[in-house]
Amino acid sequence: MIIQYFTGTPDGEIEAVRAKLRDWGFRVQFNPGELGASPEERIQVDNVFGNVKDEHRVSIGEVDCVKQVIPVEGVPQNLSLVRRGHRATVTLPNPHGMKAGQGPVEIGAGRPLVVMAGVCAVDAEYTLASHRMAKDAGADLNRGGAFKPRTSPYDFQGLKEDGLKLLAEVRAEVGLPIVSEILDVRDIDLFMKYDVDVLQTGTRNAQNFELLIEVGRTGKPVLYKRGFSNTMDESLKAANYVMEQGNDNLIFCLRGVKGIGHSFRNQGDLDEIVSLSHLIDRPIVYDVSHSAGRKSAVRAIGDMAAAGGADGILLDVHVSPRHALVDGFQAIDTEAELAPMIARWRQLRELTQPVG
Ligand code: PEP
Ligand code: MN
Repeated sequence: MIIQYFTGTPDGEIEAVRAKLRDWGFRVQFNPGELGASPEERIQVDNVFGNVKDEHRVSIGEVDCVKQVIPVEGVPQNLSLVRRGHRATVTLPNPHGMKAGQGPVEIGAGRPLVVMAGVCAVDAEYTLASHRMAKDAGADLNRGGAFKPRTSPYDFQGLKEDGLKLLAEVRAEVGLPIVSEILDVRDIDLFMKYDVDVLQTGTRNAQNFELLIEVGRTGKPVLYKRGFSNTMDESLKAANYVMEQGNDNLIFCLRGVKGIGHSFRNQGDLDEIVSLSHLIDRPIVYDVSHSAGRKSAVRAIGDMAAAGGADGILLDVHVSPRHALVDGFQAIDTEAELAPMIARWRQLRELTQPVG
């Protein structure tokens, strides 16, 4: 629920309400306040997280200094658009890119489209060239998998720690922040050791609650991929595990779902960009490679995602797709192809999204 206090309520009275809420076991977050009509009203709003029931709402509603109690239903409150009243931005720090003159990247409302491009699986031979190519073409982040979730145990599983090391070395050369998928809570320390800038949780771990909790606790930005066999409600609730750890840096990524009657690798879920942008305040990224799974579809699907309101686009690139260890068939391989795509996606965002 959200509590709005009367303007001018003394701090002591507000603190008494908060103490009662904490007694009940709720987490209270002062909202520096963007609800309410006038500047005076805006500053006195609390977000209350927990298993809030009608009797709690009624009891708090009866306190003199409480102007109104707003129930939040459906979407978890941490992600809900009603929490701030507008869509959020997340800052992706770039401590390792400073030398190369690259600053932090901001993703979300009012910001330019953010492109995350890199190899599906990190390899020793081509990752540097591929990530440089992505940067030269206009990408803001490099993605690269060191731990790969594979359907078959006989398939290549990623270079693991060596892959993270390579990724960090390549980052030092290229200067862009990196995003990499973590599969297991046991690897958290490794991801911290190599200071991976954005932790990705994959579709196969969409309801791995222990992993989501631990990843949330790191405080790092998290790219949460929706579950390919989960309802949207289940995925939003799972993503809430990350934010419930006090981590406000969640980015929600769509990547297609299992479906029927589609000819691509997954059934696209582009329409969810539109739906979610009216429900959640989180930045929304669309993965154009894993949804379609086909190189020839990347440009057009990216056009649709950018025009539809995605705040970011994620894609696979590789300078020598036939040597790619995973997913070469869906990778964009040249700057000549990628640069105009990215430029066009950015134009489409500018045309359709208000930029602040
Ligand atoms: C990936 O991004 O490399 C990946 C495996 O994605 P997903 O979890 O969406 O399949
Ligand atoms: Mn891939």
